[in-house]
Amino acid sequence: MGGLYFFGPGKPLPPGLSRKSLGENCRKVLKLMALDIPLPPGFILDTSIFSLEALASRSRALKKSLDTALAVLASSLGRTFGDPQNPLLLKITLSPDLAFQSPVQVRGLGLVRPFPSSLAAAQAPILIRDMIRIGARLAGLEGDARQERKLQAALERLNRDLGREEEARADLGDEFLSINDDDANDAGDAAAYDVSGSSFMEAPETIATEDYEKFLPSGFFDSPQEQLAAALEKASRLLALDREAGGGAILVEALVYPNRDGAYRWGSFLSRDPVKGEKKPWGFFRRGDGKGGTLDIGLLDPPYLEKLRSIGQKLEDTYREIRLGHFVVEEGRLWLTGQFPPEKKSAAADIKLLLDLAERKILDNAQVIKALDIGRLGEFLIPGIESAGLENLKAWRGGIIGAPGAAVGRVCFSARALLEERRRDLREGGDSRFILVLPSSFAGDVKAIEVSAGVLTRDGGYASHASVVARQYGKLSLVAPELRISGEKAVLGDLHFSQGDFITLHIPSGGKPAVYAGEAKLTGPDPQDPGLKAITTLAGSFLKDFHVRANADSPGEAALALSLGARGIGLCRTEHMFFGPERLNPFREALFTADAESRARALAKLRRLQRKDFEELFTAAPGGEVCIRLLDAPLHEFMPRGREEVRNFINYMQSPGKGKESGKIPKKAEILEALETAAEINPMLGRRGCRVALSRPEIYAMQTQAIFEAACRVRLRGIEPKLEILVPLVMNARELRLIAYGKKIEGSSYAGIADIEEQVRAEMKAPPVPYRIGAMIEIPAAALGAGEIARYAAFFSFGANDLTQCTLGISRDDAGSFLPDYSRFDLLEADPFGILDRRVKELITLALRRGRLTRPGLVCGLCGEQAALSENIRFCVEAGLDYVSCPPRSVPLAILAAAQAELENSGSHRPPVA
Ligand code: PEP
Ligand code: MG
Repeated sequence: MGGLYFFGPGKPLPPGLSRKSLGENCRKVLKLMALDIPLPPGFILDTSIFSLEALASRSRALKKSLDTALAVLASSLGRTFGDPQNPLLLKITLSPDLAFQSPVQVRGLGLVRPFPSSLAAAQAPILIRDMIRIGARLAGLEGDARQERKLQAALERLNRDLGREEEARADLGDEFLSINDDDANDAGDAAAYDVSGSSFMEAPETIATEDYEKFLPSGFFDSPQEQLAAALEKASRLLALDREAGGGAILVEALVYPNRDGAYRWGSFLSRDPVKGEKKPWGFFRRGDGKGGTLDIGLLDPPYLEKLRSIGQKLEDTYREIRLGHFVVEEGRLWLTGQFPPEKKSAAADIKLLLDLAERKILDNAQVIKALDIGRLGEFLIPGIESAGLENLKAWRGGIIGAPGAAVGRVCFSARALLEERRRDLREGGDSRFILVLPSSFAGDVKAIEVSAGVLTRDGGYASHASVVARQYGKLSLVAPELRISGEKAVLGDLHFSQGDFITLHIPSGGKPAVYAGEAKLTGPDPQDPGLKAITTLAGSFLKDFHVRANADSPGEAALALSLGARGIGLCRTEHMFFGPERLNPFREALFTADAESRARALAKLRRLQRKDFEELFTAAPGGEVCIRLLDAPLHEFMPRGREEVRNFINYMQSPGKGKESGKIPKKAEILEALETAAEINPMLGRRGCRVALSRPEIYAMQTQAIFEAACRVRLRGIEPKLEILVPLVMNARELRLIAYGKKIEGSSYAGIADIEEQVRAEMKAPPVPYRIGAMIEIPAAALGAGEIARYAAFFSFGANDLTQCTLGISRDDAGSFLPDYSRFDLLEADPFGILDRRVKELITLALRRGRLTRPGLVCGLCGEQAALSENIRFCVEAGLDYVSCPPRSVPLAILAAAQAELENSGSHRPPVA
């Protein structure tokens, strides 16, 4: 029988068979057969030999060949084609030389009256319904709109009887025009063999097919040969349409169907546990006699379970992913009736699979790293949400992602209210989860953000204060410009919530954020998962000239970052160290009071605190770089806000203890005047960054002393910090030279970092502390002047937040109010505070080049918020930067993104040398 090839257990394919002409679906089957996977037997009609004309013409020669082929198939399964009680049923799949998402397929050919009573209850009516649909198509019903409508109404009734109302709607779809059957493709098999409950309803045993007779070819349920001939005729016509694509074949497979017999088993299994990734079949099955209902796959008879294990491994090795399989056991033989990628599996399970494949040398390490989907690492690092039950919660969707994840909590409209409520809850054992809801956040709100579950603000975006702080503390942040707050009530679209109401924030890193009224169930992250650690270490081994650091300003965050694979601390924002209630007022005193003595006393107190802070930081990151940025405090963030904060600051300044210290108590009017004098109209471009050091040199002097004192102390304990001191918001080389090396000019003198190091060393009788001074490049002028700045900077740290703000002239804190309009009219490629704008990239590239012309060994990193996004990390690797510094929980993502970028650039598939 030229052009007709059998396949099945123990039936080798003819040598020299050209798989090329057989089309994609046949190739898939042959691939699995070659792996010795027990697929139900079948045959292939090669249309390059078995002409389409012959298939369409129902020629005698064709009939003869088919009769012989069917007899062989039937005998191999102990069935008979056309036997009403023990029928050989067929599945026919078109296999053009095109890769279709869902194959064009019919299922159940051979089903004739009286229908077999042995078919499992859940299967028989569905197969019959499918055959009615197929029959109607084969009868050429399409095109007759009236008849189609009638049939669809009849099928809907039937579907309702079968409890399949969902599918009733699908019946009305376009696919009616072809013989493709939405239930009959691979996913359809999945539905038919679903063991998760509902498909095991006790469906009607028989369907009155006479009701449908008028839609079907005559004698459709009486003649299996007629069914087959009509199907092949239709198939040949459909294949002819694809002829231009060349080749093509028809795949005829025996349908192995579940049966009522007690020896039958059928079920679904995953090649491994989809949650933890443990390598053993996971799933459920049913017995033919229904005993025990739905059973765990672990209870399957051991030889079949072992078979599934072996099939699972072969499928994983071939597809390099977890697979979902359907199986039937009949007459002691197990058949795989379908296999597909599963819809749901955890990142932990995927990682376990990839590591297993690498261990067994199916994949090399580079392939493992390339295969990983970076976004899915978020499952380990941030909480997620359980979808079950969400439909019962009222939702608002939208907003700008500040920090992704999921959080539930009670609404609080002020930091003070949140901290008070929390204290009470902790005391009385209440639920101390809160969501802070504010127009925007400032320094006074940071403590509340730190102990909240998340923060919802109206102003800003990805780089606004609330988002930066939330990311730093591993909290959620959503910016919703539509948010309207009035007293202790807020409105967001149709959602109304008041102080104390529970809300849920869900901010997926890739999708649309949502706010739900009420409590949803969360899924917990596990940053210390061993799989995550293994994959991060492996990815790190591919980083040749690039590394990842973290933005951290507390020992806890530093330790977390290092445990997640960071090499060191790339940015310690020292202003974040003054957020605590006991520090904020002395810090404000140092910044805002006119009296020099008062400032000096405040700074002395802060110096002691800072020394301890730095000692702890050096201790938490032994051996790694610790890059401490001198103060960069936009004054509006630290200025007391609102009556209460101002009163609190005045009370602090006038407190009896302070009066005793200073001998004089400042008047309220003096304090208010000092605050007013310090206030700025445009603080983000005001006395920020290193500018504060020019008018208040004692602030940087205090910090520098504290840094060197801390370094000397930890060195006594054998810790050698790789100290870097970073100067923020540098505009030109002269600023940096002054701050780094000091200056004496006409009676004025300025003590630079180098002077202070010498001074501390002398005071502490300590050896010199190795350190490097760097500049933050975050103003376009600094990028353009990088050549000169590099004379005084051993490293550059690009502050992408400010560089974006200054390059595009877009306020970080106000962008949320107008950027949505830019999206509406498609004026920007992406949120520039997320994906680096191309002009910002150009400035970074230019600064890098100019800087390295002056200082070839200049180390360069990116430390703004954008440093956590894979697209930007790719740019950093390609542009020749040395590192990125990102929030601690983003470290694994950044390492993986950098490794993927390096691998892509090198095009290497070789594993690194151990
Ligand atoms: C930046 O501007 O990108 C940066 C890291 O500094 P900050 O966000 O603290 O201004
Ligand atoms: Mg900055």
